[in-house]
Amino acid sequence: MSLEAAAEELARLGGVDRRRAAAAILRASHDEVFRARLTQLAKKPALLHSLLLAEDEDAAVRQQPVDVIEELTRSIRAWAANGFGLVEPSTYFRRLDVCNSCPHYREPADDPLLTIAPWATDRRVCELCGCYMRLKARLTKQHCPAGKWEEADVPL
Ligand code: SF4
Repeated sequence: MSLEAAAEELARLGGVDRRRAAAAILRASHDEVFRARLTQLAKKPALLHSLLLAEDEDAAVRQQPVDVIEELTRSIRAWAANGFGLVEPSTYFRRLDVCNSCPHYREPADDPLLTIAPWATDRRVCELCGCYMRLKARLTKQHCPAGKWEEADVPL
């Protein structure tokens, strides 16, 4: 799809002009966090509109608890479909090593829905999927939204 066609489509979805949509596509081509935000909000026109207008990008992203719940639901479905399996400890620790060195692994936003494990000393979550990695990394059929777990999941 050409940039013009993609901009036209994004402009239609987000209710903005094509110039603004094209700028967002160009930014998404080199800004991984923005690309993930754009993808997460693609089916939420009001939030997508706020993000594209950049009136309050953080506000658009702060309204993500529903997305976090959707992600959690997706993860649990995938896990259940695989018989609630757990990965080998070696895979779990390799996944956590990858997250620990990833810039997207951060303290959660000040939102109770994102504070999934308030008792934990390490409360960091992945800002791309909102997941608590000390839990998610243990489960089979889970993936890193940035594709960084691929090597960690290859048995040694
Ligand atoms: S799941 Fe992937 S993107 Fe998220 S913190 Fe871990 S390595 Fe980073």
